[in-house]
Amino acid sequence: MQIQENISLRPYNTFAIDAKARYFASFKEIDALEEALNFKHQTPNLILGGGSNLLLTKDFDGLVLKNEITGIAELHEDNNYVYVKVGAGENWHQFVLYCIKRNWAGVENLSLIPGNVGASPMQNIGAYGVETNDVFYNLEAFHLKEKKLVTFTRNDCAFGYRDSIFKEKYKNQFVILNVTFQLQKKPYFNTSYGAIEQELERMGVKELSLRAVSDAVINIRSSKLPNPAEIANAGSFFKNPEVTPGKYEELRLSFPGIIAHLLANGNYKLAAGWLIEQSGPDKNGTSWKGFRRGDAGCHAKQALVLVNYGSATGKDIYQLSENILQSVNEKFAVQLEREVNII
Ligand SMILES: Cc1cc2nc3c(=O)[nH]c(=O)nc-3n(C[C@H](O)[C@H](O)[C@H](O)COP(=O)(O)OP(=O)(O)OC[C@H]3O[C@@H](n4cnc5c(N)ncnc54)[C@H](O)[C@@H]3O)c2cc1C
Repeated sequence: MQIQENISLRPYNTFAIDAKARYFASFKEIDALEEALNFKHQTPNLILGGGSNLLLTKDFDGLVLKNEITGIAELHEDNNYVYVKVGAGENWHQFVLYCIKRNWAGVENLSLIPGNVGASPMQNIGAYGVETNDVFYNLEAFHLKEKKLVTFTRNDCAFGYRDSIFKEKYKNQFVILNVTFQLQKKPYFNTSYGAIEQELERMGVKELSLRAVSDAVINIRSSKLPNPAEIANAGSFFKNPEVTPGKYEELRLSFPGIIAHLLANGNYKLAAGWLIEQSGPDKNGTSWKGFRRGDAGCHAKQALVLVNYGSATGKDIYQLSENILQSVNEKFAVQLEREVNII
C-alpha cells in the first residue's frame, strides 16, 4: 500500500476538477484499507469509486481512499434467482454486461451508468424504471472508526429515490466492500419506461432479449447524455422534486406544459430538467439550457446536466448550481435538491 501526497484528483472525477488530495491511497483488499486508515490516523477520509457523482469544491485536506476491490462470484442459486457477490471496485457497466452474457435479468435497464458497483447502493442508482433496490440482496461494509465489518440487508439500507442510509445517518461512516445482487434466472423485460419501446422498434428487434434492451438503453443514453470523456460532467446534477397534488395543480394551471408523473403515494414528481429549461439567468427569457459562464455551463441538450468545458473550478460549478436553484425557486416556488455529492 502506497500513500501519495498532494496529488491532483483531476483524473479521478468525471467533472475533471483539478482539486488536490493531501494524501491518496488505493486499496484492493481490506488489509490494505486498514493499513491506510492507520496511517497518521488521517481524518477526514473520502472514499472514491469512479468519481462520477461528486463535485470537488476545494482541495481535500485528508486521505482519499480509492476502492479497487474486484471480483465477481456466483454464491448460490435457487429456482428463480442467482446470487452474485461483486467487489465494490468493479465497473458498473462491465458488471451489467457480465449479467447479460449469462442471461441473468434485472440490471439491463441500468446499462451505461458510469461509476463502480460500490457506489450503486449509495444513491440507489436508477434509470428507465429500475433501481439498485430492485436487484439488491445485501452488502458488506467496513466501519471506518470502529474498524469492524457489518452486513446490511435491503431493509437496513433504507433505500429511497437516489438515497440510502449511507447518504443520511451513516454518511462518511462506512466503506462498502462488496454488494450481492439477486438476479432473475428467467429473463423478464421492463420496456415500458421512457423511449425503450420506440428504440427497440427503430432497431428492428423482433424478439426481445436482455442484450436488445441493454442496447436500446445504451442508444438512448448516448444520444441524450454527454459522455464525460468528451465533456466533463457528473450526470444529472439535481433530483426531480416531489410535490403535493395541491402544489402540482397550482403549477399546472400557471404552466400547462409542466412535465410530471404521479407517484404511488399520490404526490407528483416534477421533471427538474424542464423546470431548469424554463428558468434562466435573467428575466428576459434566456434559458439555462446551453448557458455558459467561463468554463462552467448547462449542457445544450440536457439542462439537468452541468458541465465543465475545461478549466472550471468546483466553486464555479457550485455557484452556477446555486444560481439555478434560486431562479427555479423564484419562478416556480419549488426547491431543487442536488443529486451530486458536494465535497
Ligand atoms: C454521464 C452520467 C450519467 C449518469 N447517469 C446516472 C443515472 O442514470 N442514474 C443514476 O442513478 N446515476 C447516474 N449518474 C451518476 C453516477 O454514475 C452514479 O451515482 C454512480 O453510482 C457513481 O459511482 P462512482 O463509483 O463514480 O461513485 P463516486 O462518484 O466515486 O462516489 C459517489 C459517492 O459515493 C461514495 N462512495 C463511492 N464508493 C463508495 C464505497 N465503496 N463505499 C462508501 N462510499 C462510497 C463517495 O464518497 C461519494 O460520496 C450518472 C453520471 C454521469 C457522469
